[in-house]
Amino acid sequence: MYYPSQKKPSRRLYTFPGGLHLPENKAQSTTTATVKAALPRKLILPIQQHIGAPAQVLVKVGERVLKGAMIANPQGRISASVHAPSSGIVSEISEHPVAHPSGLPALCIVIETDGEDEWGELPPAIDDFRLCEPGLLLERIRTSGIVGLGGASFPTNIKLEPKKERRIDTLVINAAECEPFITCDDMLMRDRPQEILEGITIMKHLVGAASCLIGIEDNKPEAIAAMTKVISEQEVDNIELVVIPTLYPSGGERQLIRVLTGKEVPSGKLPASIGIVCNNVGTAAAVADAVLRGRPLISRYITVTGEGVANPRNLEALIGTSGSELIEQAGGYTGEAARLIMGGPMMGFTLHTDKVPIVKASNCLLAASTREAPDPGLATACIRCGKCAEVCPVSLLPQQMYWYARAKDLEKTQEYNLFDCIECGCCSHVCPAHIPLVQYFRFAKNECWDQEREKKSAELARMRHEAKLARLARLEAEKIARAQKKKAALARSASTNKGSDAAGDPKKAAIEAALKRAAEKKARLAEEGVKPQNTDNLTDAQRRQVQQADARRKALGDGDTRQASEQQDR
Ligand code: SF4
Ligand code: SF4
Repeated sequence: MYYPSQKKPSRRLYTFPGGLHLPENKAQSTTTATVKAALPRKLILPIQQHIGAPAQVLVKVGERVLKGAMIANPQGRISASVHAPSSGIVSEISEHPVAHPSGLPALCIVIETDGEDEWGELPPAIDDFRLCEPGLLLERIRTSGIVGLGGASFPTNIKLEPKKERRIDTLVINAAECEPFITCDDMLMRDRPQEILEGITIMKHLVGAASCLIGIEDNKPEAIAAMTKVISEQEVDNIELVVIPTLYPSGGERQLIRVLTGKEVPSGKLPASIGIVCNNVGTAAAVADAVLRGRPLISRYITVTGEGVANPRNLEALIGTSGSELIEQAGGYTGEAARLIMGGPMMGFTLHTDKVPIVKASNCLLAASTREAPDPGLATACIRCGKCAEVCPVSLLPQQMYWYARAKDLEKTQEYNLFDCIECGCCSHVCPAHIPLVQYFRFAKNECWDQEREKKSAELARMRHEAKLARLARLEAEKIARAQKKKAALARSASTNKGSDAAGDPKKAAIEAALKRAAEKKARLAEEGVKPQNTDNLTDAQRRQVQQADARRKALGDGDTRQASEQQDR
């Protein structure tokens, strides 16, 4: 279906299996304009708000930080940075309760805001992004902390850098927002269509896609009008707004791709494997802010709604603002609040306290009444009605997966494509036995990941042990080689000295040395003038004296030789 204001004729749309028509409950939060939430006194920022490795803390307690300053650095390839949403003092770096289905606390940086909201130095705007190196654009997106704002919170720079061997034909922009109650994307499109279009243009340029399809459900006429207007005014090439029928969960990535292109993302593969990259409208606006204005991701639109709050609305809140403060700004609780949900009624999870900060992935805070989120009651035995399989948008067999997940037969659950389950909740919603099927699937997935982690760490330990053994063997071999080399050198030296008479006989060598010394002494004395005398003209007495002196000199030479010989004997 095409919205009537579009210039182009309708393109063919496809369907996905299953799905549900649910009460929308969207109007209650779209009647009031979106405003900026008040600056909170305290901001609590988890260092992991994304898929991948937690960010590394860059600040110390007591340090003053300015708005927009990076306070945690991405670690590794798949990670995202965290920035200070306002100026203030870092008062704590410790564990805090966070919005997570596990209910476990997480490491957070706490900033006591100073009320000045003073911006720090921002990186320069990249006005003509087409002339910029793609690597620099991706780095800007990475250092701006941008992750998928549709709920998945996968680092956007990774998504926009598909493998070189894969050609991307189509950029799909997810504007479907199919889950009941949630309207933050709808309001963002009404308020900031220009920024969204700028971000789309940058992303399209980065992935090298020939065309872009923006998929939007037909229950958002104001957003459709705003987007249509900006697209037609800008005369952008090959960016098309496609209005699709409202059917839950058409906003699922694979479902939207199917509806818009008719293509099926293969099981266990990413959309890039079929030449498609998919991003959310909120992410597009964040990319434009980062590239064209140098602004990191420090705030987002969030829907605060349900019969449990007095004035349901959308707020632009700083990341790290407490849920309780947002509830206050939506008029506070009414007497009907029965359950507080982070996210929508289908894919969200129950919060046990409102004193948790909103993070990059937080799109909705639903204070639901018992009418809006009824207690499902006690689960009973499966009656094998098959309704769960009928509504599954991925054509899975939830009933079988449930049996195996319950029996903790993880191998079997994977044989039934557990990891293709998008946790949309359609099966649980229709189950007449009120079996919390999605909870079983989430549990089974977590168990599989735990097993995988254990397997990896055992493999790592084995590799480390083998490396240690190999190192020891190498050291031993080197030691033996050194000893052999030394022995060979000695043998070579012995064979070189073989020519000398004294070689191998130290006593003989010492005698030879003494004789040499005596000869040298004799030569020295001769040089000094003690020359042999002509005895022909001497008297007998004088001749005897000369003969005695010669005899003494001779005896002195013999004595030297004897002394050397005795020393050697000792
Ligand atoms: S819908 Fe519920 S009762 Fe029916 S087959 Fe599925 S799990 Fe069983
Ligand atoms: S939660 Fe999973 S199994 Fe259930 S309907 Fe959705 S995709 Fe299918």
